[in-house]
Amino acid sequence: MKYIASVSFGKDSLAMLLKIIELKMPLDEVIFYNTGMEFDAVYQIRDEIKYHLNRKNILYTELSPKYPFIYTMFDKQVNHRDGTVSNGYSWCGGRCRWGTTEKNKTITKYLKEKYGDEYFEYVGIAYDEPKRISQDKHKIYPLYNLKLTEKDCLAYCYRLGYNWNEDGILLYSILDRVSCWCCANKNLKELRNYYKYLPKYWNKLKEFQNRTNRPFKNNKISIFELEERFKRESEDNEV
Ligand code: SF4
Repeated sequence: MKYIASVSFGKDSLAMLLKIIELKMPLDEVIFYNTGMEFDAVYQIRDEIKYHLNRKNILYTELSPKYPFIYTMFDKQVNHRDGTVSNGYSWCGGRCRWGTTEKNKTITKYLKEKYGDEYFEYVGIAYDEPKRISQDKHKIYPLYNLKLTEKDCLAYCYRLGYNWNEDGILLYSILDRVSCWCCANKNLKELRNYYKYLPKYWNKLKEFQNRTNRPFKNNKISIFELEERFKRESEDNEV
């Protein structure tokens, strides 16, 4: 039987991987599905971890979408059930999580083709997220079994020196989740913090909004409308 850790290099899956190594649990391979849309801070952590895995002779594999994420978002021809055709699926998130669907399929296909039925996949679901635990016989949940909450995971990663530093901003101090920077699941507080503290990514969101008619937030509010709102809020605060 082979043991494979699926990581995204967010706080939970990273804490899981670090714990697996600390506790000397069996580990044959680490896989990362690279959407190409991760924060730079995530790629920095990935590079550090790759270095450590290499020194420990643990296989590291990077999977990726069939087509570049941006192509699927804006250019790929999409045939809808109602017979209409569009260029791309537009924003990923909410009810239209096309990126997640492809990620899950790609990882499962990879594991099945490589290991058949002979594998366990470690998945980083924290103790306070029991609803995300599935009955899939291939999946193991070390964080849940160790009773490590999301807060514990972040504290553990910080303690070991991983802090998701993006140009001086620690991403977990302003975001609830560190996932694709263009994720349409971001809440208003997180988006306000993009506008205030992450101008590089905010500007990229504006570029993307220019390429699609679908408003970013809940299919109702565009990035430009959000910007107006955040500008007004900061002006009001100055008075
Ligand atoms: S993190 Fe968001 S944008 Fe990225 S694949 Fe998941 S739902 Fe889509």
